[in-house]
Amino acid sequence: MWFYHPDLLARPVPRYTSYPTAAEFTDAIAAVDQAEALEAVTPGQSVSLYVHIPFCQQICWYCGCNTGRANREQRLASYLDALCEEIRTVSTRLGDRGRIDRIAFGGGSPNALAPEQFTRLLQDLIEGFGAERPILSIELDPRTYTAPWAATLRASGVSRASLGVQTFDPAIQAAIGRVQPREMIADTVDSLRASGVTSINFDLIYGLPDQDRGHLDATLDETLALRPERIALFGYAHVPHLLPRQRRIAADHLPDQAERFAMAELGHHRLTGAGYVPIGFDHFALPHDDIAIARAEGRLHRNFQGFTEDDAQVLIGLGATAISQFPDLIVQNEKNSGRYRMRAGAGQLCAERGIERDSVEQARSHIIEALLCERAATVDAFLDDPGVTERLWPFLHRGLARLIQGRLQVTAEGRPYSRVIASIFDRHRGAATQRFSTAI
Ligand code: SF4
Repeated sequence: MWFYHPDLLARPVPRYTSYPTAAEFTDAIAAVDQAEALEAVTPGQSVSLYVHIPFCQQICWYCGCNTGRANREQRLASYLDALCEEIRTVSTRLGDRGRIDRIAFGGGSPNALAPEQFTRLLQDLIEGFGAERPILSIELDPRTYTAPWAATLRASGVSRASLGVQTFDPAIQAAIGRVQPREMIADTVDSLRASGVTSINFDLIYGLPDQDRGHLDATLDETLALRPERIALFGYAHVPHLLPRQRRIAADHLPDQAERFAMAELGHHRLTGAGYVPIGFDHFALPHDDIAIARAEGRLHRNFQGFTEDDAQVLIGLGATAISQFPDLIVQNEKNSGRYRMRAGAGQLCAERGIERDSVEQARSHIIEALLCERAATVDAFLDDPGVTERLWPFLHRGLARLIQGRLQVTAEGRPYSRVIASIFDRHRGAATQRFSTAI
């Protein structure tokens, strides 16, 4: 049973796909720091690559990603040329150090590319970084998934795919600018399975215009019938002051926070009742899926792609806006696609901002990650801080967390408050909260 405490959910908090979050990045960090971090990678160290494709055939009104219309072939082709240059520059810097275990393609929609463009890109990555049999994953838009794409995924050995589903309700699909009939999703799932993809994720959203528990229930029925290995159930964050495309969504039709909370609870109960394992605060997976196994073995992590079983300490992001993470440094590539193309094309590293993480920030980062992934963390080093104990008190008092001998445990009832509880250990929170969403 979840209990709704509106006062504890009133404050917007980050999703903590990194700590410190991107809101703390500054331009004091630049390519020179990225170069040093790449040179500090050790031989054989596990490295993951993330490749950003900031294009989609159609732009959904709710979308918070850095993406634009893939309506001009030349624009897309010149972005890919720049990306291949960046791959050359970064892989040369990395040299023989590091071992590429995973390559993830995200965006945007990587299938805004032509299949042959994807094949060339993958080849450049494999050859440039000397990757041997990395795990390949890709985000896909079912609306632009085609038979040639199926053949390409099979030939490339892609084993994981994430589909933007969001809702099966046709009226809500129309209200968010993303119309995709049920048959299209079902056909995509069948095709992916036939193409050798063994782990399929559905992204679903609650808190959409005119959506209530009944709509979500029906979407969960459809989802469970297709049985994806993973499900991410996100709360819609309506921030039109930051994302002008969201102005097309009728704000006065959005459910209130109490209904959002009820929908999140419904989702949790339906999915766990159907045999899915809860992963962190908004993901679910079938017990045989790698991420559920990692959760059971205490190996769950959180990075820019969300909850993951990937334990690489080094994540290299490639492409405009892509973020790279090293133990003591986070850097983000140039956001402006024109400047990105210029820098990458000139053989330069593309980081333009970021943040260093000293040992205290790394300790905070570990606590936040552990609270989100395991719902427990050893926090004794921070209990002398009255700011921490004061903010923890309401959660302890209401049974949403327990503190025993310096170990903080978020209770089952506290799960929906995990992000808020984790934010207590974030020294940057206070001002600048407008850019974040509520925790539910
Ligand atoms: S397809 Fe995905 S990335 Fe592209 S606009 Fe829609 S939600 Fe955003």
